[in-house]
Amino acid sequence: MPELPDIVVYLKALEQRLEGETLQRVQIASPFLLRTAVPPITSVKGKKVVELRRLGKRICVGFADNLWLVLHLMIAGRLHWHEAGSASGHKAVPFKLSKSPKNRGLAAFQFGNGTLSLTEAGTQRRASLHLVEGDAGLARLDPGGLEIFATDLEGFKTVLQSANHTLKRALTDPRLFSGIGNAYSDEILFAARLSPVALTQKLDAEQIERLFDAARTTLTKWVDVLRQEAAGGFPEKVTAFRQEMAVHGRYQQPCPRCGAKIQRIRYASNETDYCPSCQTAGKLLADRSLSRLLKKDWPKTPEELEGLTAGPKK
Ligand SMILES: [Zn+2]
Repeated sequence: MPELPDIVVYLKALEQRLEGETLQRVQIASPFLLRTAVPPITSVKGKKVVELRRLGKRICVGFADNLWLVLHLMIAGRLHWHEAGSASGHKAVPFKLSKSPKNRGLAAFQFGNGTLSLTEAGTQRRASLHLVEGDAGLARLDPGGLEIFATDLEGFKTVLQSANHTLKRALTDPRLFSGIGNAYSDEILFAARLSPVALTQKLDAEQIERLFDAARTTLTKWVDVLRQEAAGGFPEKVTAFRQEMAVHGRYQQPCPRCGAKIQRIRYASNETDYCPSCQTAGKLLADRSLSRLLKKDWPKTPEELEGLTAGPKK
């Protein structure tokens, strides 16, 4: 699932291409994508893009008259840019959205300088698009998680310990923290040398500070890495699994810090990877012995967490 670093890089690329441009045509190919009926999607046609914003893991495209297209890519949604006049631009206009179930075209937005398209791999229709009005409309879609770069240690600590969760759950809960998902939570916990199943209210001051620093340095590092990779182009290699990651997606490979084999915990469709020697004092977190704890605290699916918007925090 595209997380904060991926979204930041998408936004930069979109800003450079869309700001000041007028939306000429919009095509929605999937009936599952658009989750709002009012205002109608046709109301953004002919309007200029004035601003881009990130809302947690959502991409918000702001149009004149305070209309916002809010896109959540979920796990398999990806954006593509087809420059007008280029080979891919010629293919994109007129719209021929791919019906291939492997990488289905869900929507296309045609601007004077090119076309932005949205695809979703796989058969599950999870990506969502909302069209809302003004700050109030945006606020309704905001899960309310704390922005790691807009807080201090004290603010971080307060949110982290507002309920007693496992660290993995706390970091990936969009109502607690903004923009962090399955991949970067693994990387943050590795950098902080903390167990994914440590409980937030059991952490001491030093561990909390380590976690806060790790969150900031890990996310900063990955924004830089992805920005360099995109190199001013449109980010086309968005993935949760990267060779340079320390633990995420690296089950049974050697830990880059100590050489121990990376382990993983799987629960329902969720997975977390960690280094037992760096993070759990050598202990293997066996699926079986954890099941009781996880049942209570582990998100069953990433969608279950992502669907949450602000409201009572459990
Ligand atoms: Zn290690």
